Amino acid sequence: MTKAPLGRIGVIGLGMVGSHFARHLMRTNGQLTVFDLNRSRMKGVVRAGAVAARSAREVAARSETLVLSLPSPDAVRGAMLGPQGALAGIKRGAIIIDASTIDPESCIAMHKAAAARGAHYLDAPISGGEPGGGGTDGAAAGTISFMVGGDKPAYERAKAVLHGIGKHSFYLGPAGSGSTVKLISNHIAGLNNLVMIEGFVLGAAAGFSPEALMRVFAGTDAKSYMMTDYFAPRYRRNDFDPGFSVDLMHKDHALAGDLGRKHKVPLLFNQLALEFYQLMRAGGDGRKDIIAGLHYLADLAGVDIRGLHPSVRKRSTRRRKK
Ligand code: NAD
Repeated sequence: MTKAPLGRIGVIGLGMVGSHFARHLMRTNGQLTVFDLNRSRMKGVVRAGAVAARSAREVAARSETLVLSLPSPDAVRGAMLGPQGALAGIKRGAIIIDASTIDPESCIAMHKAAAARGAHYLDAPISGGEPGGGGTDGAAAGTISFMVGGDKPAYERAKAVLHGIGKHSFYLGPAGSGSTVKLISNHIAGLNNLVMIEGFVLGAAAGFSPEALMRVFAGTDAKSYMMTDYFAPRYRRNDFDPGFSVDLMHKDHALAGDLGRKHKVPLLFNQLALEFYQLMRAGGDGRKDIIAGLHYLADLAGVDIRGLHPSVRKRSTRRRKK
């Protein structure tokens, strides 16, 4: 991460990702204004010295640069538009860095609405960029990648902020380009997760634990970033909390499906993934991490995969020794 004069900064949306952004920005910039609809989400960063605003509009009025990390297109519109929205308070020349994963059309609309107020909107969704830095781990470590769409001069100015909270940034073209590439990235990542889970459940049914298979697959064609850098660390610490939630992955597959329809590209596997994650949501697992699909599919198949986890095996070995 580079230290740079970043101007006054505001963060809107202090969830799994935005809270890490806020912590990095407090460190690099020394001051920050924050807003989240859920006030409890602001507590940690306010304790660290950030100012809590009462609306997105107030954050914008106090900032030269705004960073958004919101869960959906509707949330972005809600935070940007209307009398209490960021655009109502935005300064001329301000830059809005929208790190939310949303659809390209909404990005184009936000870019236009910001330009009408003399401000610059960049769609800048994120993904893990470094080994071990998938999703929120990368946001915590400051090693994520940004995929950026919008006006190039605004991107050049925004780099100081982007590289205050992440490590890599890719400028991809006009408004909506960053979101388009991000949706393709998550189409691939969401499917990688499912195909890996399916393989592990099949392995468990045949008597091989995920741990044993991961050791082998690290040296076979089955290896993927999703396996080695996202699934493995979470699985090993038996952590099935998000991270990246099933709800968010479902939203991203739905948006990728819209993109496929727009470009008349059939996305057969995207549809399967969408319905798999929807099944999990229907069963009450929407707020779990996407790797919880492992348990979901194992239960469907009647396979005891939980019993193969190293922590469970260690416990039962200890019991046997007593
Ligand atoms: P999250 O649900 O944990 O956080 C979103 C926050 O936004 C919540 O605290 C919510 O209260 C707040 N919010 C919602 N509407 C608001 C509004 N109108 N005004 C102010 N605050 C509002 O989500 P997250 O996991 O932090 O993800 C944020 C974005 O980043 C999503 O678009 C997601 O797809 C994307 N993303 C997440 C990850 C990850 O690993 N979690 C990785 C890559 C991309």
